[in-house]
Amino acid sequence: MDLDALNEITLTWIAIGLLLSAIQLKVTAPYGRHFSRNWGPSISYRLGWIIMEIVSPLTFAHFFWHGSAGKSTAHWFLFALWMLHYLNRSLIYPFRARMGGKEIPLTIVASAVFFNLVNGFLNGYWLGNFAAFSGNWFASANVILGGILFFTGAFINIQSDNILIRLRQPGDRGYRIPQGGFFRWVSCPNHFGEILEWCGYALMAWSLPALSFAIWTAANLIPRALSHHRWYHRQFPDYPKERKAVVPWPSSGG
Ligand code: NDP
Repeated sequence: MDLDALNEITLTWIAIGLLLSAIQLKVTAPYGRHFSRNWGPSISYRLGWIIMEIVSPLTFAHFFWHGSAGKSTAHWFLFALWMLHYLNRSLIYPFRARMGGKEIPLTIVASAVFFNLVNGFLNGYWLGNFAAFSGNWFASANVILGGILFFTGAFINIQSDNILIRLRQPGDRGYRIPQGGFFRWVSCPNHFGEILEWCGYALMAWSLPALSFAIWTAANLIPRALSHHRWYHRQFPDYPKERKAVVPWPSSGG
């Protein structure tokens, strides 16, 4: 496949992501607190999570390794960022998160597998075949800014995941108002951090597939964060009023 064909597929994929985002503003994906039995058979949440997330690094690595381009330090750096993020997300996070006794619909697992297959393919294939980086790549403005965004996002994402994990004792399935970290400002800093991370990665890679993954991440997580935010307000009458849904920005007045 040549670069033009890859870019055409990627543009179509971006259009699908934006369309699905509009749908997700109306229909909340039924997992976690929004779980519903109306979406067909379900499986263990932990098993489902591992299956759907492990697809991304495996697909990325396959197409990267089998790509024909020579691999520089910059190639391996971007490869390592993807792998490190997904090593945590697919194999460490599901054993730390309090998921025990919960289920996830197979339809969600299947659609996430497809999402991760396409994003892993587009990004691994681009990095393995078409990416070309200059000798001073690490010193370029987009890589420095992208790196700052990526690592800040990863810090916020992991810090927020940790705060959420500590809200429950083993076996507990209830919900509390999270406090501390970026929860001071937003209901879903884990989602905010993840969006920052992939915007940073897109800046560093400077490719259409990486931009597409940042758009898809925001397209999935902004509607989910808005649903979580509305849910918190329905569930907890004393929920902090100044807290935004996903992007921290100052309140008007006071
Ligand atoms: P959530 O915030 O919905 O949940 C994260 C974990 O914390 C779950 O185990 C959840 O339990 C628990 N939890 C959340 N809120 C509370 C609370 N108030 N009290 C007690 N426990 C709570 O995150 P997601 O499941 O949507 O995502 C998990 C991670 O995966 C995030 O870091 C996210 O950024 C990432 N992700 C990335 C995507 C992408 O497109 N790149 C797509 C989806 C997720 P329970 O599940 O029982 O509600």
